[in-house]
Amino acid sequence: MYTTPASPVDVAAVLPQLGPFARTTVRLHPRQGSPTVEQSSMGGPLLWPADEPWPTCDGPQGDDHLDEWPAEAEAPLVPVLQLYAADVPELPFPAGTDLLQVLWCPFDHAPFSSPRPLLRWRQAADITDRLAHMPDPDGEADPEHLPQACVLAPERVTEYPTHDLPEGVWAQIRDAVAQIRQDTGWDYDADLAVASGTKTGGYPGWTQSPDWPVCGCGSRMEHLLTVASWEFSRGDEKRWIALEDRPAMTGWSWDAPDTHPWWAIRNPAGMMLGDVGGIYLFACAVCPSRPFDYRFDCS
Ligand SMILES: [Zn+2]
Ligand SMILES: [Zn+2]
Repeated sequence: MYTTPASPVDVAAVLPQLGPFARTTVRLHPRQGSPTVEQSSMGGPLLWPADEPWPTCDGPQGDDHLDEWPAEAEAPLVPVLQLYAADVPELPFPAGTDLLQVLWCPFDHAPFSSPRPLLRWRQAADITDRLAHMPDPDGEADPEHLPQACVLAPERVTEYPTHDLPEGVWAQIRDAVAQIRQDTGWDYDADLAVASGTKTGGYPGWTQSPDWPVCGCGSRMEHLLTVASWEFSRGDEKRWIALEDRPAMTGWSWDAPDTHPWWAIRNPAGMMLGDVGGIYLFACAVCPSRPFDYRFDCS
C-alpha cells in the first residue's frame, strides 16, 4: 500500500471556486514485480484467449515506423496495463466486462511520434483457454517503450485542474494561489492540483495546452488513464512521493548510483516517453462500446 500525503492546503476550503472541479484519480503506484495474468499489472502478462490472434501494428503507413523505413514485418504490440474491475471499479467498463487491457506498438507513430495504444475490454470469466506465452517484443523496439513488469497498488486521491481550469476561474484564484505559495511554499500546479504518475481518471497532467478528443457521437471524451514516464517528474517532488517511500529516498540525487532505490521508485517500469512525457487515453462515456482516442505530450 502507498499513501499520498494529504494536501497541505484544504483546497476546497481555501479556494471554494475549485470545489466543482474536484475529481478522484486512482494512482496505480506501479512497482517492479512478477504479476500473473490474474492480477492487475503494468507491463505484465495479459489474460488473453488462446484462440485470439495477438495484435500486431497495422503500420507502417505514412510516416509510421520512420526509423525502420522500409519497415519489416508487422511488430507485435506489447502489454502496458491490465486492470481488473475488482481493483479499479471506477473505470467505465462496458456492460458485461470486468477487465481492461492496454497494449501499444512501441515504435514512434504519427501524429505525436509516440507509441500507439490499443484497448481491449473483456469479461475475464469468458477466457477459459488462455494464451500461454505472449510474443516477444520486436528486437528493434526502443527498450524505454517496453514497460517492465510491475504490480499495482491503487490509491484514490483528489485532484484539481491546472491547464483545464477555465480562465475565468483562474482569474479569481490567481492572487490567492500566489499568496499560498508565498506563505507555505506549496505550489498549486506542482503540489496541490494534478497527481503525477500512472493513474486512471482525474485530470491529464498536460505539459502542453489541453487537447481533449471528441467522439464521433459529438461528446467530449473522458480521461480514462495516463501512462506516465515517471511517477514523479522532479527529483524531490514534495507532494506525490508516497509516505512509505520517503525513507528510501534518503540521499537521493541526480548523480546517485543506479542502485539507489530512488531510481526504481521514480521510474518503476523503466520507461521514457519523449522527454519525460505521458500518453493520455480517453474514452467516450456515452457510446456503449467506449470508443477511445489518445494524446501524447511532453516538455
Ligand atoms: Zn507501429
Ligand atoms: Zn461517443
